[in-house]
Amino acid sequence: MYNLYNYSLKQLQDLLVNKYNQKPFRATQIFTWIYLKGVSDFSLMSDISKDFRDILKKDFCLVKPTIFKKEESSDGTIKFLTKLSDDNLVETVIMPYNYGNVLCVSSQVGCNMGCAFCASGLLKKKRNLETHEMVGELLLANELLKDKKITHIVVMGTGEPFDNYDNVMSFIRICNDPKAFEIGARHITVSTCGLVDKIRQYAKEGLQINLAISLHAATDEKRNKLMKINQRYPLKELMAATKEYVQVADRRVTFEYILLKDINDTEEDAKALAKLVKGILAYINLIPYNEVKENEFKRSDKSRVHQFLDWLTKLGVHAQIRKEFGSDISAACGQLRAKVKDNE
Ligand code: SAH
Repeated sequence: MYNLYNYSLKQLQDLLVNKYNQKPFRATQIFTWIYLKGVSDFSLMSDISKDFRDILKKDFCLVKPTIFKKEESSDGTIKFLTKLSDDNLVETVIMPYNYGNVLCVSSQVGCNMGCAFCASGLLKKKRNLETHEMVGELLLANELLKDKKITHIVVMGTGEPFDNYDNVMSFIRICNDPKAFEIGARHITVSTCGLVDKIRQYAKEGLQINLAISLHAATDEKRNKLMKINQRYPLKELMAATKEYVQVADRRVTFEYILLKDINDTEEDAKALAKLVKGILAYINLIPYNEVKENEFKRSDKSRVHQFLDWLTKLGVHAQIRKEFGSDISAACGQLRAKVKDNE
C-alpha cells in the first residue's frame, strides 16, 4: 500500500505515470481532493474515473498518526505527542506568534547528534520519520487549530533534519505546494547542527526556504565540547559552507546560539562570535536555554542575556532574543516525551 501523504506532487506524478500509466494531472486531482478539499474517501473523488478510483482503493491509503497526549499553555502554545503507527512518540509544538501559527516539527525518533545540552539526544536515533509522518504532524496541528491554520513551519523538533534529508525535502515541497498546504517558502525554516555537505545540497534546492544553523559556540575548543558534530565538521568548514549557502541560495542565514551560564555567555564569547560571523549575511537568534534535568547546564541570567545582545549589537552584529513559548508546560524541548517515558 502506498500512503498518499508520502509523496510530493512531482513524486506522485512519477509514480502514477510510470507504474499506472496515468497522465500527470491525476496527481494534481488527487492533491486537490486530499489537501485542498480534505476528502479522504476515494469514492467521493468524482472527477477521477471509476476504474482508477478502484485502483486507488486497492493500492493506496491515507494513514496519519494520532495524538497521544496534549498540553496547552496559558500563552496558547500547544505541545502534543504524535503517535506513529509503530507506537513511537515524537513531540510536535504549535506556537502562536503575532504573525502566524508556527509549527515545530520533529524529523526523527530520537537523535544521534549527541549535543551535550539537548534532551532529544538522550534517546538515540531509532529511525527517520517518513514524509507522511511529518505531513501527519501538520495535519494534526491544523485539526487542533480548527478554523485557523499553520502558517509557518520550523523543522526544529526532535532529530537532525539533514540526517533525514530526502524525506524532509519531500515534506517541505508538500508544505509549499499551492495544491497542498501552500505555506510560503520564506515561512519554512530547517535547522541543522551543521552537516556541511547537506548545507551545500540545500543551497542548490532552488527554493526560497530558510536555513538556521545551531552554532552555540564560536571557537572549536568550546564547540567540540558542546556539539559532537564539530569534531567532524569544525567551524572553518561550517563557515565556508555557510558562506557558500548565502551566495548560492541568495538568502540570509540564521545562527542559533543558546546562552549557557558561565559556558558561552561572557563578553569574550560575544567578541569571538562577532568575529566568526563577520562578513556573513546572517543574524543571530539568542535562545534562553531550557534547563534539562538530565544535565548540569544552567540558563544564563536574564540580565546576562540582554547584556550579551547588547555586546553583539555594539559589535555590529544583527541579533535578537528568541521569544519563549509554553514556559508553564514541560518547558524544555524534548521534555514532554521524556515525561511520558518516565511514567511508562
Ligand atoms: N537538530 C537540529 C534541530 C533540532 S534542535 C539542530 O540542531 O539545529 C532545535 C534548536 O533547539 C537547536 O538550535 C538546538 O540546539 C536547540 N536546543 C536543544 N536543546 C535545547 C534546550 N534545552 N533549550 C533551548 N534550546 C535547545
